[in-house]
Amino acid sequence: MTTLTLVRGDITQQSADAIVNAANSSLLGGGGVDGAIHRRGGPAILEACRALRAGHYGKGLSTGRAVATTAGRLDARWVIHTVGPVHSTTEDRSELLASCYRESLRVADELGARTVAFPAISTGIYGWPLDDGARIAVETVRATVAAGSAVTEVRFVVFDDRAYAAFAAHLPDISK
Ligand code: ADP
Repeated sequence: MTTLTLVRGDITQQSADAIVNAANSSLLGGGGVDGAIHRRGGPAILEACRALRAGHYGKGLSTGRAVATTAGRLDARWVIHTVGPVHSTTEDRSELLASCYRESLRVADELGARTVAFPAISTGIYGWPLDDGARIAVETVRATVAAGSAVTEVRFVVFDDRAYAAFAAHLPDISK
């Protein structure tokens, strides 16, 4: 059984087996969640990302894919980096956003992570409308864990009240 939970806060302050990073394809850091994770997690994460770039991920990580590294000084065992799509008004990229959640959970299961914290992928710098991003996040996580997962908790960690309300609307079971 996997429980879906929702908290308001800074994802870098969370304690979980795996913390998901809304990374960019370079894997070499950026703003938003990415910047915060590298700042608080320390240089070990960037070092591990550089090693990935020097190995199987020479061209970086494709949109919708996920890969794990150490979590450095974060209170977690792993950071799972995933690259959300930039929102487009002319092209439906929903499947790529869904893929971020699916692939991150697949990686989490491979690692043996039981608790996984997700940010609201693509809803910051990448411009995805919050309500739609929340819907895709919750629907995809529900469907993925229903198909079989050893993850016991998927925690959505959102920054502000607006994001909290957007996720809560799709999570009728949580206490508000
Ligand atoms: P993307 O580039 O995928 O849009 P961002 O990091 O810019 O990713 O933003 C993703 C979401 O995470 C946004 O809703 C943003 O408000 C939120 N966010 C930014 N920093 C943090 C943080 N430290 N903890 C939790 N959520 C955050």
